[in-house]
Amino acid sequence: MKDIKNFINGEYVTNVSGKTYEKRNPVDNSLIGTVHEAGKPEVDAAVAAAKAALKGPWGKLSVVERCAMLDAVVDEINRRFDDFLQAEIADTGKPVHLASHVDIPRGAANFKIFTDTIKNASTESFEMRTPDGKTARSYGVRVPRGVIAIICPWNLPLLLMTWKCGPALACGNTVVVKPSEDTPSTATLLGEVMNKVGLPKGVYNVVNGYGVDSAGAFLTAHPDVNGITFTGETRTGTAIMKAGADGIRPVSLELGGKNAALVFADCDFDNAIATVTRSCFENAGQVCLGTERVYVQRPIFDKFVAALKEKAETMKPGRPFDPDTKIGPLVSKKHQAKVLGMYAKAKEEGANIVFGGGIPDMPAELKDGCWVQPTIWTGLPETATVITEEIFGPCCHIQPFDTEEEVIAMVNNNRYGLATSIHTQDIGRAMRLANAIEVGLCWINSWFLRDLRTPFGGSKQSGIGREGGLHSLEFYTELRNVMVKY
Ligand code: NAD
Repeated sequence: MKDIKNFINGEYVTNVSGKTYEKRNPVDNSLIGTVHEAGKPEVDAAVAAAKAALKGPWGKLSVVERCAMLDAVVDEINRRFDDFLQAEIADTGKPVHLASHVDIPRGAANFKIFTDTIKNASTESFEMRTPDGKTARSYGVRVPRGVIAIICPWNLPLLLMTWKCGPALACGNTVVVKPSEDTPSTATLLGEVMNKVGLPKGVYNVVNGYGVDSAGAFLTAHPDVNGITFTGETRTGTAIMKAGADGIRPVSLELGGKNAALVFADCDFDNAIATVTRSCFENAGQVCLGTERVYVQRPIFDKFVAALKEKAETMKPGRPFDPDTKIGPLVSKKHQAKVLGMYAKAKEEGANIVFGGGIPDMPAELKDGCWVQPTIWTGLPETATVITEEIFGPCCHIQPFDTEEEVIAMVNNNRYGLATSIHTQDIGRAMRLANAIEVGLCWINSWFLRDLRTPFGGSKQSGIGREGGLHSLEFYTELRNVMVKY
């Protein structure tokens, strides 16, 4: 049984209030451990430690020395790969092939990409003549922003946390991380890694707990936090932006989506089916970039629906380490109830259920897990709830279309603008659509293919700001201009 504490100033600490909550395994609802919920005193202590650490040895390291320490973090995560893997799988229930190929390796790689970036980032410099005949040269200096609050969701816990922690630390900031209440383990375990590589105390801190009236809200409201970076729901992002307004603290927001896949009759059919299967069902649909709206050109509509149904039928649910398992459970009972509520809504609004729509038949020992069936609907109008609202489950609605103009209008008629994928062999059409669809990320004949040097983020209500490569420096540093007269 795990005892999941807070990690403050280089030490694992319990909380003043003694408040704890149970963390259960989504596979079978068994108890994994007890989490110490941080209250105001713990958040205050974590922020104070992070603020003090800015002025300590951390602030005096050269960029190269700082990056060497973070490269050692990568090595240590890889050395303890199995500990991270077990912790992530216990918290989320995701299949081992996914956690071992995506979550943990990307979780480590997120440090390396930013140590490479910061070592090679340059700034501008200009020279000019002054009115009294002298010369002046101005140049830019990137300085750390200060104490960064990192608020994370539960779907890719280590990966999404280090996507923010990596650049924040590479840029010389200190951090206080608030993992999701549902997935506290890997962020907490990372504290051991930070101590092992000799990261100065207070540079990396973790406070566990919930959002409202708990660690999340206490952290984002804290006046000594200099920037807030958040990944999660759009509604929570709104609350966080309001919290950031007090004290004029900048926010970086990676929010919800209702992503569309567009499949044209001239596509490579097998590639389109394989890609859309992944984008709808991978990680049980709990991927912000995942597809929940599929638009298929009419000549191949029936064939596409039948082929995707065939793929959904092969998505065998099961234990994470069972080699036959293709799909894991949802993360929690709360999320299972939300997704099943959406399944019921689709039925009520008149959907044709092509596949799924409920809970799979599981063996007795797994019956208490948070399972839902992969689900495919057709036949709904574009105003239906499951077409307009984010579900964050393994499901999609498939809509036929005839023309480019028609499909662009349907895809853009949504408040979100995170990602899309376009399947066609006509490169001219693909590029026209990439310009026309209102999103931050567009894939052509692919999905979730990432080059970490490129900008990542959403438009419309899917977020503010871009992270990735040099773009992360916009948030994790302040650009100061220095003017020298000589
Ligand atoms: P959530 O918004 O419910 O919670 C995210 C985090 O915010 C949690 O740690 C939670 O405790 C905290 N929180 C909640 N209320 C808060 C408050 N008032 N103040 C401070 N912190 C608060 O999101 P979730 O359910 O954990 O994650 C799923 C959502 O995340 C989906 O909407 C998904 O699309 C989105 N997401 C987006 C991206 C992206 O890159 N755009 C990536 C992954 C997930």
